[in-house]
Amino acid sequence: MTARIAVMKNFPKNEEEFLVRFGTEDNCRRYLFDLRWPEGFVCPVCSGRTARVNKKNFIVCTGCQAQISLTSGTILHGTKKRLALWFRAIWWICTHQKGGSARELQQYLGLGSYQTAWVWFQKLRRAMSLSEGKSCGGRVEMGQGMICDRERDGKDYSPYECAKVLAAGEVVASAPFGLGRTRISLVPDFSRSTISGFLRENIEQSSTIVTTEDLESSTIESLGYGHEVIRSVDVRDDLTRGFPPHVASLIGDLASWLIRTHKGGVKKKHLQQYIDEYVFRHSMNLGESPVETFNRILKGGVEGEATPYWRLVGKDRPQSSRSREKGHE
Ligand SMILES: [Zn+2]
Repeated sequence: MTARIAVMKNFPKNEEEFLVRFGTEDNCRRYLFDLRWPEGFVCPVCSGRTARVNKKNFIVCTGCQAQISLTSGTILHGTKKRLALWFRAIWWICTHQKGGSARELQQYLGLGSYQTAWVWFQKLRRAMSLSEGKSCGGRVEMGQGMICDRERDGKDYSPYECAKVLAAGEVVASAPFGLGRTRISLVPDFSRSTISGFLRENIEQSSTIVTTEDLESSTIESLGYGHEVIRSVDVRDDLTRGFPPHVASLIGDLASWLIRTHKGGVKKKHLQQYIDEYVFRHSMNLGESPVETFNRILKGGVEGEATPYWRLVGKDRPQSSRSREKGHE
């Protein structure tokens, strides 16, 4: 593949302009190729630098003749739908700042089935979470609490409607909710090992962590982080009392986003993917341009592993060879 398409600097101003750039399979393929190999092709088998494209659209290394699918190892792997349609889905996400539902995506793309639209959205959410990049650093608020998918409505939540989360965010005064990069994870409990796993995965070692007195603090200190304890703010809701103030506001907004956009219809086993989308959308509001967002989702896909259907829908890997993987819509 010799002709290269420069990774775009200016985002298309409207859909018409978008379709001029990405309306054809060829343009989409070239763009994905350049995002995947920004320094030019490198063969994963022999590290050769030259390749051609065969009639079946495989990239063939001229050194070792290895055939590489442009989408292999990505969330787009095995897709039977046109890449141009996937590009339009990502465009839709980038131009709907507050998010939307699978039903709306289905209508926009003219997809035949709701199920397909839902699976697409889940794949895109996975690409969003894979693209999140660097850990939180500096002064980081962290807390534990519950997130619920129904409004309280005068009654107590029943336990299955709520899920335990650990959440963290860099304190940045000028950012929405006073938080820069954020991380929110569903967890089974608030044990030392769970907290320690969350810290290692999401927060840089040199950070100072700000918590309320509700969070078990010895883990933070034993891992060598700076630690500052503040008093719980008076919160309307016991569910968020374990979060420091900025993170409490973020979690409150996440809960109402889930209710507003998804009408309380998110199942617990899929909740993390919806949370990932919310975290991604928060990072979109930190001054990132739409081009960066677009490339980030596409790259998240490029760098992500293929996600089979059974994993997206929260099932165990099928035992039987007769079980079909239906994820390749
Ligand atoms: Zn090769």
